[in-house]
Order: sequence, then structure tokens, then C-alpha cells
Amino acid sequence: MNNCRSCGAELFETPLLTYKNSPESAQNFINNLTSSNDAPVTLKIYQCSKCGLIQHNSQPVSYYKKVIRAVSFSKEMTDFRLQQLDDWLQKYSLKNKSILEVGSGRGEYLDLFKKIGVKKVFGLEFEKSNIEYILSKGNNATQGYLEDGLEDIKGQPFDAFAIFSFMEHWPNLKLGVEILNKFLNPNAYGLIEVPNFDMIKAKGLYTEFTVDHIFYFDQKSLSNFLTSNGFEILSIKNIWNDYIISAEVVRREPLNVEIFNKKFKIIKVSLNDYLDEINANKTVIWGAGHQALTVISLSNIKKKISYIVDSATFKQNKYTPESHLLINKPDFMLKDKPESIIVMAAGFSDEIVKIINTKYPFIQNIAVLREDNLEIIK
Ligand SMILES: [Zn+2]
Repeated sequence: MNNCRSCGAELFETPLLTYKNSPESAQNFINNLTSSNDAPVTLKIYQCSKCGLIQHNSQPVSYYKKVIRAVSFSKEMTDFRLQQLDDWLQKYSLKNKSILEVGSGRGEYLDLFKKIGVKKVFGLEFEKSNIEYILSKGNNATQGYLEDGLEDIKGQPFDAFAIFSFMEHWPNLKLGVEILNKFLNPNAYGLIEVPNFDMIKAKGLYTEFTVDHIFYFDQKSLSNFLTSNGFEILSIKNIWNDYIISAEVVRREPLNVEIFNKKFKIIKVSLNDYLDEINANKTVIWGAGHQALTVISLSNIKKKISYIVDSATFKQNKYTPESHLLINKPDFMLKDKPESIIVMAAGFSDEIVKIINTKYPFIQNIAVLREDNLEIIK
């Protein structure tokens, strides 16, 4: 397969790196050499030509769904993690919320969450013996793997989630995140950590390329992946002597468009009120640009307007779309002598007001449509 496992685009044709005789996995230790079917692999490291993500295209290891953590945390790591998690939970007021850890291993992080007072913490782990261990210690966990199309996770929907050094193992990364999203509340927070490819690159750590890790994220490609898969990055930094990238994210919510509705209403009401109040015999609009055309149509004022004037000759003697108002040249007003004019010419409005005052002094009412309001000039 020569397509990116994340975005689906083509990988650069030639692998960046090729390692012959690579161990076929980092975890399948051999019990008996005579009966072993151990076969080294040729590990080829590719880059996506579109999203830039570094990845291998080998068969994933047989145990990719499980989380294997070598040892329980050192004292230093435990202290660091307790502080980090406590800060994260406090920062986003998550302590009393429901939290999911994706890929819980033997519950190492579930214990830490409990230790800092989180009551509603739930795990997700594929390995049955890990699940039994987690449950035996009084923690909550569901057995399963996101990319298998998981249908339920105990404790969902979650207000927050954490994934510690697990996402780089997911063969169907995008699908995994898509399914995860189904179990999250709309504005859920996330803490996502992966090995730091920025450091691997800088130091030439070729031994970090392993069949176990399908993806190699640097800060840029991790941000890129997360922002194109439903999250906003709140912070992204290197931790633990730069070995790990730690990203704090929040699930993207639809853009708040209140300001558009507010302005629409203000302009519509003030235009209609103004036109009713002056109740002029003839009111003209100066300007046939797209803002003017939109305002006239959306504010439904066409019946109160006699015609439009605009100095663009190619618009003159034509009718406006939707509102069907005739566009005259400005000098048409010299013989027609309208009583009122509303200038809708964006950046040119002030210049036009000066022209009206000198050239068309018979106009009694002048107003200018500004971005936020209708300004009465006279
Ligand atoms: Zn890609």
C-alpha cells in the first residue's frame, strides 16, 4: 500500500529510509529458537507527499491493539505525571468530570488519576489480562479497540480523554479518532502524547524506527493531524527531556456566528425605521456594489427605494439582481431631484457625501450605511 494511512494521499514513491533485517517486533521475545518462526523484516520509512506525515508501510505487529508498558513508573516519572495531570485537570476544570484513557495497559494512569482525586475515570484496553488486572484493582475499564468499530464504552459520553504513547501504533489512525469522537461530549478536552520525532530527527536516532510504531509525529504533523480531525490545539510542547510531544486539545465546536445575526438585525431594523421615519417622496441609494445589493435584498427595502445611482458606467441603465432597481448615473439626480439618499459605498462613502453636498445640494436627507449602523449625516 502506497497511500498515507492518515490522509489517504500518495506517499512519496521512494522510501526515505530502508532498514533490512529489522526485528519483526519489539515485543515478541523468543522462548525456543528451534521452534521459532522469527523472520526479520525490511522496514521502509515513507513520507506522505501531501500531509507530510512520516510512517512505515509494513504489516502492523500482531499485538498492536494492546498497550504494553515495560515497567511501572519510576518515582520521578510518577511525581512528574501526578503534577502534569493535576495541572491539566485544573486548567480546564475537569476534576469532577468523566475522563477516558484510551489504551490503559494495566491501569498505570488510571491509578494516577484516582490518586489526584478524579472519581469518574474510565479505561479502554484490548488485552483481556490487562482488563482483569485493572478491574481487580477497583478501576473501571472496557475491553475493546476503537478501530474495530467499538459501539460502547462504559462511562460515555466523556468530558475529557487522554492517550499516552499509543496513537502512533494505530494502523487506521483516522478511523480510530473518528470513533473516539462518538464517545465524547461536544466540547471535550484531550491530552494526547506521542514519541517526539522532532528529537529523533535532530539526533539521528535511527533505532527509534520500529515496526511497532507506524507513525512518527513531530509537533507540526501532530498538530496538522489533530486539527484536520476535529480538534483545536490548546497547547503543544515537548516533555520528559524532549522524548515526548504532549498536546492539549479541545473538540472543535461550530463557529459562533452570533455577530452576523446581530449585525443583520441592526442594519435591517435601522434602515426600515429610518425610511419609515423620513417617509420621503423619493429615496435613492448611491452604490451598486455587492454590500449594497445584499443589504437592499436582505433588509427588504426595495419598495421604499426609487432607484440606485452608481458611477460605474458598466452598471448604469441595468437592473439590480433580486431587487430589480434601475441603476442610473449620478447626474440623473440633477433633473430628478430626489429628497433623500442613502450612501452604501463602503470605503468611498465619505468622499461621496462631499460630492452630494456640493453637486446635489437639493437632497435634504443624507445617511451613510456604516459597518455597524446607519449614520444620519443630515
Ligand atoms: Zn498524508
